[in-house]
Amino acid sequence: MTSKTTPSGEAVATWLAHAGPSPRDYHGFVNPPVVHASTVIFDNLEAYQTRSQRYVYGLMATPTTDALTDTVTELEGAAGTVLTGSGLEAVTVALMSCVSAGDHLLVVDNVYGPTRRFCDKTLSRFGVEVSYFDSGVGSAIVDQFRPNTRAVFLEAPGSLTFEMQDIPAIVEAARPRGILVAIDNTWATPLYYRPLDHGVDLSIQAATKYFGGHSDLLLGTVAANEAALPMLQETRQNLGVNAAPDDVFMTLRGMRTLPLRLARHYESGLTVARWLVSRPEVKRVLHPALESDPGHAIWKRDFTGACGLFALILQPGSQAQLSAFVDGLSYFGLGASWGGFESLVTCPDPRSMRTATPWAEDGALVRLHIGLEEPADLIADLEEGLKRWKAAG
Ligand SMILES: *Cc1c(COP(=O)(O)O)cnc(C)c1O
Repeated sequence: MTSKTTPSGEAVATWLAHAGPSPRDYHGFVNPPVVHASTVIFDNLEAYQTRSQRYVYGLMATPTTDALTDTVTELEGAAGTVLTGSGLEAVTVALMSCVSAGDHLLVVDNVYGPTRRFCDKTLSRFGVEVSYFDSGVGSAIVDQFRPNTRAVFLEAPGSLTFEMQDIPAIVEAARPRGILVAIDNTWATPLYYRPLDHGVDLSIQAATKYFGGHSDLLLGTVAANEAALPMLQETRQNLGVNAAPDDVFMTLRGMRTLPLRLARHYESGLTVARWLVSRPEVKRVLHPALESDPGHAIWKRDFTGACGLFALILQPGSQAQLSAFVDGLSYFGLGASWGGFESLVTCPDPRSMRTATPWAEDGALVRLHIGLEEPADLIADLEEGLKRWKAAG
């Protein structure tokens, strides 16, 4: 892993340890205060009429939200950031800021399921045309552009099936045509890929995952460049989107240890992935940092690291075998979400979530989140699971 630095040259770990307001602004307390607020009192009528105070209403900003917003803005190299109540809301606010009735939106086929549902069930009700493209499209995305194409939505790698996308090629095709590019960058986080440095307009983070890092909050962030920021801020405001103060505080708290945690997730994830590659029960491991992965060259060119989330495809087998594998695992909780300190397993079926390119694998997909446990313990747990899988066949 290359050592990441901020534009000012400071190491990210050093910078994150001191990001946010100065303790001097709050009587020396290291952390910013958690402001729970709706009403803000104005000094006088003139201040009220001109909105000349820094803070005017809890929904707009508080010292707590400012601390996180400013931190994410700098981490992403953005013009500004909005906070949302969940990662999904970050996606929906970002999309609603990009497209209007009559516009066409292009979405990568491997996108997070709830994002797809929002596009198909909600955006479509507001007169937005949505179509999906194969993750391997690259510069041939121009063939998918229509006269009314307004935005392209990416997720690299896809958080179920881990296909990379050639982001620079897509940006290069979209930019001259005035088409906005937004990306759900939850997998890499801005530590391992900074989308706005590469011409992407909006960078989304389900802060619920690694920013928070402890499976105890819901929050989203959208960072935007100068061009996309005004509409993003206006959309958030008009929708009345709010991020809860305690979750904002906890997210900033989680981010202090983000470089440390991510480095461990990256290393342990690869250790477990490499072990799985060697197992005969496993047909394929989907992890772009593996040399054998079809997305490896792009990952290596564009990203500086990987998180702890990847998937494997078992050899074709029965449902009973899959249950025997999953149900007996000790350290892998069976549950949605990821990015916390603990390992997780899920068995999503991508077949129902594809429209551009059918999902062709015949073995079951098992998605793993490798947490902060000792990798040898996780491997032993998985080894027992694969034995159970085989015995049930
Ligand atoms: C989890 C996730 C989201 C949604 O985040 P929530 O906070 O759970 O709403 C969005 N995108 C990706 C890639 C995710 O994994």
